[in-house]
Amino acid sequence: MKKKRNYKEEYQYIKKGLMKVRIQAIVLLGGKCSNPYGIDHTFFETNPYYPLTIQIDHINGGGCKEIKMINSIGVCRKIIKNPTKAKKEYQLLCPNCNWIKKFMNNEHPHSHYIKKSSYSNLKEAF
Ligand SMILES: [Zn+2]
Repeated sequence: MKKKRNYKEEYQYIKKGLMKVRIQAIVLLGGKCSNPYGIDHTFFETNPYYPLTIQIDHINGGGCKEIKMINSIGVCRKIIKNPTKAKKEYQLLCPNCNWIKKFMNNEHPHSHYIKKSSYSNLKEAF
């Protein structure tokens, strides 16, 4: 007879399965930040915790809408099903690059406080 799992075991089992799908999708998308802003990532990439921070980003936005429809695991499964097509829709970003993208695209809740002229000052600082 199959042993009945308790709630905690069930949660761990599901979590493990979701992580497996997520890791598979991340590997298919190249395994590291696509670095769209040309930042030196050497410091992060050598950190053993770096892979845990990687986020799957929708290149042309609309991520929230899709996640509401098919949830984040659905997105991972979509990537696994057709990696070639997925590479045109999704990219991997580290949290730093993701926040910069949010500012640049006015998706960040505070980005409207920063005037356009400050953007160029920021770019010069990099
Ligand atoms: Zn990055």
